[in-house]
Amino acid sequence: MSELRRDPIGGRWVIVDTDHPNRPKDYDIESPAWREGVCPFCYGNESQTPPEIIAIREPGTAANTPGWQARVVSNKYPALQIEGDLDRSGLGIYDMSNGIGAHEVIIDSPYHQKDIPDLLDQEVENIFSLSCVRSLDLMRDKRFKYVMIFKNYGPAAGASLAHPHTQLIALPMVPKSVKEEINGAHNYFEYRDRCIFCDVIRQETQEKERIVLENKYFLAFCPFVSRFPFEIWVIPKKHNGYFCHMPQEEVPALASMVKELISKVKKIFGSLCYNFIIHSAPINGDGEPEGYHWHLEFMPKLTKVAGFEWGTGFYLVPTPPELAAKFLREENTS
Ligand SMILES: [Zn+2]
Ligand SMILES: [Zn+2]
Ligand SMILES: [Zn+2]
Repeated sequence: MSELRRDPIGGRWVIVDTDHPNRPKDYDIESPAWREGVCPFCYGNESQTPPEIIAIREPGTAANTPGWQARVVSNKYPALQIEGDLDRSGLGIYDMSNGIGAHEVIIDSPYHQKDIPDLLDQEVENIFSLSCVRSLDLMRDKRFKYVMIFKNYGPAAGASLAHPHTQLIALPMVPKSVKEEINGAHNYFEYRDRCIFCDVIRQETQEKERIVLENKYFLAFCPFVSRFPFEIWVIPKKHNGYFCHMPQEEVPALASMVKELISKVKKIFGSLCYNFIIHSAPINGDGEPEGYHWHLEFMPKLTKVAGFEWGTGFYLVPTPPELAAKFLREENTS
């Protein structure tokens, strides 16, 4: 028998194959393969991107020239445009809004071939520090209700450029999947007067079975209700609704944990495509939603979402999170 599990936060159901679980060798990995061409994100090609919004660079070097360690630029083909006023209109029963938003790209490092595990700790910190700075800035724009940070690594994960980069998108509404989490967390808070994420941390720390890594400020674990095999969440141990309100001293701890996690995953599966997203509380609403706690969700691309998932919203998870966490813990990266 497989096991049905219900996510206490978003209410989603998943089906975990506890009977015949997949081991790492059972997955067909699509390793990143790219079309070759001139890369606009490479060192020396700064003039090929939209102008720099902010960068970490050597003192005395000019914007849009070499001398940088990480840069933020607007997306050349943005999903949403920054200029204009928000205009919500309707077409009969259909709600519409014009495509106001911001879509920015953080070029992780000057190195075309280096993924997060290949970077120095300081270089990984740059990515999260710049994400924080840009989130704080976009939060001040009252048109926006939500800022999401995400990474697509490899073509199967949706990246269109090989050079590792992270993206930031500001939206005029709160996306549905976030709303589900917020509503679930809010209901729990109303009922128990506690943050459900803090309770998850407490239970995971007691049970230990799904924990992958822990440091002073963060916990990494495979969620009990994973949607994907080897899904990992990274969450600050101290309650905090907003990613960009992360205290400065936590940034290096986050960077080194994410680096170690991706190293472990790559050691098990070889080079593979992956996504991560950062869920943070909505902005410019009526204050911070009670009981919401920011976190990073990491998803290696091991399976394809198929008809059953699309149709039911139930995910099929071939490796139980308890087993995935065990494989990840046992993988030594030092
Ligand atoms: Zn490049
Ligand atoms: Zn909390
Ligand atoms: Zn989430």
